[in-house]
Amino acid sequence: MASKLQPIRGTHDLLPEACRAHARVEQACLRVAARYGYGEIRTPILEVTPVFSRSLGDATDVVQKEMYTFDDRGGESVTMRPENTASVARAVLSNGLLDQVPLKLHYAGPMFRYERPQKGRYRQFHQIGVELFGVPEPAGDIEIIAMGADVLGELGLLDNVRLEINTLGDTESREAYRVALVAFLQARRDQLSDESEERLERNPMRVLDSKSEADKAVVADAPSIFDHLTDEARAFFDAVLAGLDALGIAYEVNPRIVRGLDYYCHTAFEFITTELGAQGTVIGGGRYDGLMQQMGGPALPGVGWAGGIERLSMMAGAGEEAARPIALVPVGETAEQRALVLARELRGQGFAIDLGYRGNLKRRMQRANKAQASHALILGDDELERGVVILRDLDSGEQTELSIDRVSEGLPRRA
Ligand code: ATP
Ligand code: MG
Repeated sequence: MASKLQPIRGTHDLLPEACRAHARVEQACLRVAARYGYGEIRTPILEVTPVFSRSLGDATDVVQKEMYTFDDRGGESVTMRPENTASVARAVLSNGLLDQVPLKLHYAGPMFRYERPQKGRYRQFHQIGVELFGVPEPAGDIEIIAMGADVLGELGLLDNVRLEINTLGDTESREAYRVALVAFLQARRDQLSDESEERLERNPMRVLDSKSEADKAVVADAPSIFDHLTDEARAFFDAVLAGLDALGIAYEVNPRIVRGLDYYCHTAFEFITTELGAQGTVIGGGRYDGLMQQMGGPALPGVGWAGGIERLSMMAGAGEEAARPIALVPVGETAEQRALVLARELRGQGFAIDLGYRGNLKRRMQRANKAQASHALILGDDELERGVVILRDLDSGEQTELSIDRVSEGLPRRA
């Protein structure tokens, strides 16, 4: 016997309720994006591998361990996108959008990372995100962070998350800090986790946001980027914070927020919740002024964030059900034909109509209850002869008669 076919580990079927929860997050982002004048972009899920290997940095966890990369039938190395900022940057270059700055874009869709599946961490997951290209000023960072707060506000989650923010400084600040940090970590090498020993070589800043307890203990006394910021980088960060203050957006400065990808500079931030256990970051983002050049384009500053739809929807839930349907209940053969036509008419007028495929009055009323119908429209042969149908309120049991030609006028709200 053939074995049962299952989805690939770390991937999931989204059934209707989960889809409603996802759509709710996507629509919150869509509304906020529209208010800020951001247009949607949809890029291919498959890209040639250098789109990611060049941009994210060869030494990052994502590129080293997490990418779904394979040779296609033509022998070209392709990758299923692990994140979307690099794809969007590629699209900006491919479509010659550089002269349209400031470019304001948002997206939603699936991403793929070969991670160890656990609650809030999957191999196919979904993100919403926003990207702003061509704005080197702190005003860009402030707008992007405000949009994150607004999406969380739309979902009723603002009180459940905190905003943590940091600066990675400009290139000069980061280089100076890197030297100090590596010296500090080298001296404590034997206390670090194996993973962080490796990071020390490739990507020392990443040790700062390690989840290992041993690493956390070491990092507690590590030098701070704030001792190495240039005056310009300091002023930039202060301006971002002043903007957040002016908007009443609460934050905590956390020098451990570094973000995983190589292309970040200046602002790095995360919206974090304590409600989802270890996978608490619901939105992460920052400034990536170096990205475009890394991808072979001109220097073009950028800032943005990505939010995990699974994590956000786990917190926000599916929200209100769609409008309860009205069940059409024909009794008898003539009524059956009449119901078929009436159902389509009413659906055409915007009502949600549940129409069974078979069964007597009792069976059909059971079905109406199962479909959580608010009302039943009962079409009996007797009534049809008199030109009426019976409308029964399924919550109160109250019944009225409606003229069959003017049913819609007597019905409750449309779907
Ligand atoms: P983490 O530290 O949790 O691994 P990350 O830094 O890798 O996060 P980003 O690349 O910044 O995450 O992605 C932005 C958001 O996308 C995350 O904050 C999270 O909400 C979500 N996310 C990232 N990876 C996954 C995953 N494997 N499964 C579900 N959601 C994810
Ligand atoms: Mg990750």
